[in-house]
Amino acid sequence: MQPPSYSDGSSPSIDYSRRSSTAKPHSSRQPNVNPHQHLLDRTEENCPKHLTGSKRTRYLKAGQKARQNLQLFQQLTPFHYPVHHSVNPVFIHHLTPNSTLESIINSIQDVNIYVIDTESDPPTPFRSEPFPATLQIQAIHNQDQTTILLIKLQFLPHPSTYTFSLIQRLCYHIFSPQHHIVSWSEISQELSSFQQFVLFDLSQIRHPLNLQRYFTKEWNNTHPHISSCHTQQRQSRPDLDPHIDLICHIDTDDLDEDLFPDKVHQVHSRCTCPDTIHPYKNANDQWSLQKAIQYTFDEALDKALTFNTWSCGLDPLLHSAHTTAELNTRAALTSYAINDILAPTKLFFI
Ligand SMILES: [Zn+2]
Repeated sequence: MQPPSYSDGSSPSIDYSRRSSTAKPHSSRQPNVNPHQHLLDRTEENCPKHLTGSKRTRYLKAGQKARQNLQLFQQLTPFHYPVHHSVNPVFIHHLTPNSTLESIINSIQDVNIYVIDTESDPPTPFRSEPFPATLQIQAIHNQDQTTILLIKLQFLPHPSTYTFSLIQRLCYHIFSPQHHIVSWSEISQELSSFQQFVLFDLSQIRHPLNLQRYFTKEWNNTHPHISSCHTQQRQSRPDLDPHIDLICHIDTDDLDEDLFPDKVHQVHSRCTCPDTIHPYKNANDQWSLQKAIQYTFDEALDKALTFNTWSCGLDPLLHSAHTTAELNTRAALTSYAINDILAPTKLFFI
């Protein structure tokens, strides 16, 4: 698989004039090491009066989620990866030495499985779309050896440079048709806004694995609903005349499906099993990565940093942090980004 050349003068849509060892990306906002803090005290009582309807629900739900994340950490040990694994990441950007990139390309020649994730800055009032920032890739050499790459999209070298061509060759090799690409999401959605950097061709990914869907299916297969669960009762109602059942469906459910397609599963098959067996109550619900780690390993995967300024230079080499607090925040974001690929890997392989 050969990456495209830029001899025609085309290039990814990045503002390369800003690239320098001290460059800051488009966002001047600094990352936040504790973005949940201000959400913890939200209650019905102190919710601003001007927030109504869905805005009020969102305001309160953010508070509830922040408290749940904190509670999880008070009850469980933090997520961790087996200690004998090296989890030191290789940062990839315009300052990464060519020799490092060449060495990685050589070292992953025999790797067939890659776990990936991405981080973006959230939308703002001035930008409706998330801003792609970091592409995390874990190359699985074998059970005991992996390589973790953190590609900083807003700090890429200019496409005319040899360094860029090496990064592109590395990515084209990883996202090539013969490789298995594992992610906790639909791969096309996860990578769609990252295509602009021309580091891979989505159509070349032939073996994607949506681990979220796989995990959800496996959990449901190995954890049958209890006999008193509403979904079970619905599946086995021998006393009902099938014709009556059919009439009921035509009169109510089909109408409901037409008007409120999202409500169908709530009406039909809302699970009433204990949360310990089925924490999700609707048949189409997909597991969150945090809950999958909690239920499988009794560990707390921190999601507090999800909405953050990921476009900052995480690598100390990029010199975008100055104070100890800024450096510590970037270290916390780096750990978070690494855990977001180690967690699916642990679920899948360990
Ligand atoms: Zn159930």
